[in-house]
Amino acid sequence: MRALFRRSLLSKLIVSYLAVITLTLIVMGIAAMLNAPDALDRHMSGMGGSQHMQSVSGDMMGDLRGNLLATLIEVLLIGGAIAAAVTLAVSVILSRRIVQPMRAIAAASQGVAAGHYRQRVPVTSSDELGDMAQAFNHMAERLQETERRRIELIGNVAHELRTPLASLKLQLEGVIDGILTSDASALLDMQRELSRLQRLVVDLEDLSKIEAGQAVLDLRLVQVGEVIQAAASRLRPQYDDKGVSLLVTLPVELPEVRADANRIMQVLMNVLGNALHYTPAGGTVHLRSWVEQQEVCVEVSDTGSGIGAEHLPHIFERFYRVDKSRTRVSGGSGIGLTISRQLVEAHGGRIWASSAGVGKGSTVTFVLPLANQRNGG
Ligand code: ADP
Repeated sequence: MRALFRRSLLSKLIVSYLAVITLTLIVMGIAAMLNAPDALDRHMSGMGGSQHMQSVSGDMMGDLRGNLLATLIEVLLIGGAIAAAVTLAVSVILSRRIVQPMRAIAAASQGVAAGHYRQRVPVTSSDELGDMAQAFNHMAERLQETERRRIELIGNVAHELRTPLASLKLQLEGVIDGILTSDASALLDMQRELSRLQRLVVDLEDLSKIEAGQAVLDLRLVQVGEVIQAAASRLRPQYDDKGVSLLVTLPVELPEVRADANRIMQVLMNVLGNALHYTPAGGTVHLRSWVEQQEVCVEVSDTGSGIGAEHLPHIFERFYRVDKSRTRVSGGSGIGLTISRQLVEAHGGRIWASSAGVGKGSTVTFVLPLANQRNGG
C-alpha cells in the first residue's frame, strides 16, 4: 500500500484532496462544537422572553438545548460524510484527467527509447500538460527525422561504395585469372577508382565532423581577395588544360572577414572545381567578388551545362547529383556542395545557386559577413 502510494501520482492526488476535505470537516466540527452552546444560549434566551415561551419550564429548555445540539452534531456528521463521498468521486475524476496525459507521455517515451520514433501523444489541453505533450511530440518528430537521415546516409554511403568496389574487384579478378593484363592502363584505372574511394572517405569524414560540430574553425582576420586569388592560381593549370577560361574580377580593396582561410579555400576549390567540371572546352568561368550590405559576396558563374530548376533546391543536399546515371568516372560524390554549405553557414554566411536552365550555365554565390559585423559592429 505504501509502495503504491509512493509510486502512484493518482493515489497521491486523491489522498491530498481527501486530506483537505477531512481537515475542513474537522475544523468545521470543532468550531461548531465550541460556538454552538453559546450560540444556542443566546438564541434561546431571546425565545424565553417571548409570551409563547413563558409557559415552558427550565427542564424543558434544557431538553430542547440538548436536542438541538444533538441535531447539529448529526447534521454535521451526515453532511461531512456526503461531502467526503462527493469529494472522493470528484477527486478521482480530476486526478485521472491530470494523470492520464502524464501516463501517455511516459508510455510514449519508453516507446521512443525503444526506437519507435513514430510515437506521438494527444494534446488535449492548452495548459502546462498540453505544453508538455506538445514538447514531447516535437522531440519525437526531431528524433524521427534524425533517424531517417541516419538510415538514408548509411544507404547512400553503401551505394557510393558499391560501384567502385565492384569495379575494382572485377579488374583484379580479371588480372588474377589472366583475362586482363596487369598493364599500366589497367593499373591506372584501378588507382583512379581507389583515389575516388579515398576522396569519398575523406569527404565523408569531413562532413561528419562538420555536422557533429567537431570541425573547429581557426577564425582569423582574412583578406578574402587573397584567398580568391590563391584558389584561382591553384586551379588555373587545370582550366588551361581543359581549355576553359578563368576570369577573376575583384575590387581594388576587399574588406577583411573573420574566417578560417583554409575552409574558405576549400569552398572555393569545390565551387570552382564544379564550374570547371561542368563547363565544356571553350567555355568561360567568371569569379567575382564585391561588398554589399555589410557582406562580402563571392560569385562563380560559368557557361557550362546549367542546372534544371527542379534540381536547384537539392544540389546542396548530401549525395545529390543532377545526372544520376552519370558514370563514377565522370562524376563526384555529390557531397562537395553539402560540405561547402556547412562551412559557409559555420562562418555565419549563406550559399545558393542559380541557373537560367539546362545548357545555359550556372552561378553559385556565397556571402560572408564582414569582420566588424561578426564582432557585433
Ligand atoms: P559533385 O561532387 O557530384 O559535383 P557537389 O555536391 O559538388 O557534388 O554538386 C552536386 C551536384 O550539383 C553535382 O552533381 C551537379 O549535378 C550539380 N552542380 C554543381 N555545380 C554545378 C555547375 N557549376 N554546373 C552544373 N551542375 C552543377
